[in-house]
Amino acid sequence: MDNFWQQFAAETIAVHAGQERSNEGEQSEAIFATSSFTFNSAAQAAARFSGSEAGNIYSRFTNPTVRTFEQRLAALEGGERAVATSSGMAAILSLCMGVLQQGDHIVSSQSIFGTTTLLFTNFMAKFGVETTFVPLADLQRWQQAIRPQTRLLFVESPSNPLLELVDITRLAAIAHQHQALLAVDNCLMTPIQQQPLALGADVVIHSATKFLDGQGRGVGGAVVGSGAVLDSVYSFLRNAGPTMSPFNAWIFLKGLETLQIRLNQQSANALVLAQWLEQHSAVETVYYPGLESHPQHALATQQQQGYGALLSFTVEGGQEAAWRVIDQTKIHSITANLGDTKATITHPATTTHGRLTPEQRQAAGISDGLIRISVGLESVSDLIDDLHLGG
Ligand SMILES: *Cc1c(COP(=O)(O)O)cnc(C)c1O
Repeated sequence: MDNFWQQFAAETIAVHAGQERSNEGEQSEAIFATSSFTFNSAAQAAARFSGSEAGNIYSRFTNPTVRTFEQRLAALEGGERAVATSSGMAAILSLCMGVLQQGDHIVSSQSIFGTTTLLFTNFMAKFGVETTFVPLADLQRWQQAIRPQTRLLFVESPSNPLLELVDITRLAAIAHQHQALLAVDNCLMTPIQQQPLALGADVVIHSATKFLDGQGRGVGGAVVGSGAVLDSVYSFLRNAGPTMSPFNAWIFLKGLETLQIRLNQQSANALVLAQWLEQHSAVETVYYPGLESHPQHALATQQQQGYGALLSFTVEGGQEAAWRVIDQTKIHSITANLGDTKATITHPATTTHGRLTPEQRQAAGISDGLIRISVGLESVSDLIDDLHLGG
């Protein structure tokens, strides 16, 4: 992304960056629903294919609507370049396939999206890339896990569902001491509330499916960064094809335009809900970085520009009590998804973390009474009224 946008605030970037109007003068971004593009001459076709002339060729790797989304997201993250992908998982796969080779080693937080864990252990391992998992916040364990072959450190901060953080600047320093890359999955914070590249990370991963769309309409993802790393991710995309469709790119462009106002309001709602839960007699623990009682509240305040829309809490009475609270809700959607304008409620122990053994769940801090809420745009007093906690 050229530096032009860096003089503007995020609100401005989110509604303008990347748009190139066609000769039709359209106000809203056009959806270029075309698989391929035509050339003025055989010579131009040859120049495009050889790379001596920039321009569209084929929508697996060049599409104007997708490019607009990439440029807007890159500008928001303060990255040189973004590559859009068909899903968040495709973004992580594209990063791995772009930068890793047989014999390389990953060090990852153990508190990452479950499917990412399985991608590393079940698939990257098949191609000779091993992963060591470490506790998110323990920088000494990250340091100890690094080997000469370590090429990638992978992290989500804050974590889901327990909202633990890591100091991204210090973790980036550890990565760079060892010539490894630090990739941050910035799905929960989005560039509105956290810019990992400015904190020293090399790569940002997005599942656009979550807050970037924010309205439950499409699946997509992106890798943001610079230089040779993004060149290699783009090369993988061009040759393997986990491509975002122009229609989805347009949905995510429209999502970006309202991202700041949505996320900040949803975060404000989350803080009110967290404070209400914290004083409730039937609630044992509330996990939300915006609470002063959160053990990493100071780090969250320093590293983030907000505390996000996700919170978790434990109720007395284990699974039975948690399920009762969930089943009595009328406006929370019972789903494992997050980041929507509609509040969603989840029982991690029997859904997202249901495949773990009870011992593994206990080690991960996922108790049977834990409930996760992704707070929406509803009136927060309606959301509070919807939670019948007993006690
Ligand atoms: C959902 C999610 C993903 C995967 O994204 P998809 O778009 O579902 O493929 C990756 N990381 C995090 C943190 C997520 O929440």
